[in-house]
Amino acid sequence: MIYCVEDEGSIRELMLYALRTSGFEAEGFSDGQALFSALSAGKQPSLILLDIMLPGMDGIEILKRLRSKHATQDIPVIMASARGTEYDKVLGLDLGADDYLAKPFGMMEMISHIRAVLRRTQPKAKPEHLQFGQLNMDLSQHQVTVSGQSVQLTRKEYELLRLFLENPGRVYTRDQLLESIWGIDFAGETRTVDVHIGTLRTKLDACGEYIRTVRGVGYRLEVKA
Ligand code: CA
Repeated sequence: MIYCVEDEGSIRELMLYALRTSGFEAEGFSDGQALFSALSAGKQPSLILLDIMLPGMDGIEILKRLRSKHATQDIPVIMASARGTEYDKVLGLDLGADDYLAKPFGMMEMISHIRAVLRRTQPKAKPEHLQFGQLNMDLSQHQVTVSGQSVQLTRKEYELLRLFLENPGRVYTRDQLLESIWGIDFAGETRTVDVHIGTLRTKLDACGEYIRTVRGVGYRLEVKA
């Protein structure tokens, strides 16, 4: 499924038509708000084609938001912007998009860029399980066990633990954890992170000590030496 965010209806329809006749499933959105409500409904496109000039939130802001959230940070994004100064400026910003298209572009050009990015970013086979010491997370069942015993976690606790298990040893600051798990719009304090780490450690029982405090910095997953 390819998502196209483009406010000009005629261009959007043309893109969707070209995509569908090339064998892709495609859905169009006229602004960031519509895109984010589709994303928060749990749908996960394989690529987003994102126009820069949009009413409300612009494409740059949308990309930042996508990249800041765990659920959407890996979705490949192709940014489209008007040829000339706007395009040069966007390239210069190095926003971390997977590719850039200069408008106006031909539909065949668009399709070949999309195919190239999809080939390049083809997700590696995702693991079904994450395991660390006596901790096991079954991603398909959404279940966590400690030494074989099932543990009930809240959604945030689960996401926190998943982030640690996916990146063992990596140090996360409280701000990074807030951004990654709660999102940049969350008007909370870093204390929220400490509270959740605290309950997570308690629930993980003997494995709670895997989540180590890095004094003055944050947390990381590590076996106690
Ligand atoms: Ca536009």
